Amino acid sequence: MFEMTAIITFVGSCIYLVVYFGNTLVHHTHYFSDEDEDDESAQEFTTNTVRCEYEYHRASSLKREGDEAVIRAVVSGETPSYSLESELGDCKRAAVIRRMAVERIAGKSLDGLPVDGFDYESILGRCCEMAVGYVQIPVGIAGPMLLDGKEFLVPMATTEGCLLASTNRGCKAIYASGGATGVLLKDGMTRAPVVRFGTARRAADLKFFVEEPRNFETLASVFNKSSRFARLQSIRCAIAGKNLYIRFTCSTGDAMGMNMVSKGVQNVLEYLRADFPDMDLIGISGNYCSDKKPAAVNWIEGRGKSVVCEAIIKEEVVKTVLKTNVASLVELNMLKNLTGSAMAGALGGFNAHASNIVSAVYLATGQDPAQNVESSHCITMMEAVNDGNDLHVSVTMPSIEVGTVGGGTQLASQSACLNLLGVKGANKESAGSNARQLAMVVAAAVLAGELSLMSAIAAGQLVKSHMKYNRSNKDN
Ligand code: ADP
Repeated sequence: MFEMTAIITFVGSCIYLVVYFGNTLVHHTHYFSDEDEDDESAQEFTTNTVRCEYEYHRASSLKREGDEAVIRAVVSGETPSYSLESELGDCKRAAVIRRMAVERIAGKSLDGLPVDGFDYESILGRCCEMAVGYVQIPVGIAGPMLLDGKEFLVPMATTEGCLLASTNRGCKAIYASGGATGVLLKDGMTRAPVVRFGTARRAADLKFFVEEPRNFETLASVFNKSSRFARLQSIRCAIAGKNLYIRFTCSTGDAMGMNMVSKGVQNVLEYLRADFPDMDLIGISGNYCSDKKPAAVNWIEGRGKSVVCEAIIKEEVVKTVLKTNVASLVELNMLKNLTGSAMAGALGGFNAHASNIVSAVYLATGQDPAQNVESSHCITMMEAVNDGNDLHVSVTMPSIEVGTVGGGTQLASQSACLNLLGVKGANKESAGSNARQLAMVVAAAVLAGELSLMSAIAAGQLVKSHMKYNRSNKDN
């Protein structure tokens, strides 16, 4: 005999209603007392639905079974692995049991992958499903990086020997030369849905409508209702026959902003449907955004934070810290980062190893590592200045996608790294300042990395230093 259960939860201005018939979730809904489409509330709703289920199943009978019985239920398929958190009401126990079930199914051991020492509740409904443990990545600190008169200690998570040592050397050269300067050129996350019409003429009608400056204010007010932080900046379209790609750009406060911009886009599409009822929404993302794929649109237009960062490295510092000379660096940069990359048909890859630094800082600070693809777009320029004695070096990076709230940023270790940089969480005085500061630090760290690796190559030291730091004796 099944029982009907209703759970009502209050979170801020919202009321959540979750109804079960037996163990099955049959209905869930939420009611907002004021701002119905608030982004924060929607996120809390998703998390809360998962948590309500979790709380409800705390009473499930499986919870009272011993580990062996639960493992057997998972291995036989009787209990789905994904339901363990809600069935057991204990995220840590769920991870341990799932891990044992996986080992049994695979006939292989997961020894070496730690399961203890992690807060599994912190990822529930947010960061990772079906957890069985966590991968350990060492974190090193490069710096101090002197950027715009402030010192930063830069956390980098990596298993590539030499990377920290090299970036640290670059930081030292920049510090000894008086520091780096950064400029934020743009700050806007993008999303581009694809919509289809019966004719190219109709697709063009919508393009002209959304790109008409007189319509911008109306569309922006519809878009901005999605969140306190989302602010529409521009809309640009591309047409392929009768298909229209509408690239929305908006500021997103301290969030990296993918969820936020998607919600705003959805609001505008609903609004447009009144005047364009023949519009067929094919996908909320039509790849003209473009997220996690190499694409010229990001390289040219920018995505997330567009930053340029520069420094003048004194001749003496080039000699003593970087162990090379200005002329060799300038020549190498021209033939490798500019000409060599052009010969290779590079897309945003006019640099020595920007992605090394971007990925390591992203992993340490809870960014989405898949966005390393476009975030690493970078052109490194080097020029002899001050009568050819000193080196002007710069990195221009149009698509640094970072946030200090949301995603993996709130997890304990990633949050500690953000804290070290002084950019943890939301900036209360000026929303978005923490994320913008983080983007500048990423660019400055790339500047340091470029300086050091280019110097090692110019001095013919690359292979020697990698043999020393990147290979353990075990390999020999
Ligand atoms: P993303 O859009 O990057 O995927 P989320 O969906 O996690 O990120 O959205 C960020 C959440 O953090 C939203 O619910 C937003 O209302 C909240 N938030 C709180 N303070 C800020 C802030 N200063 N900037 C941006 N978002 C903030």
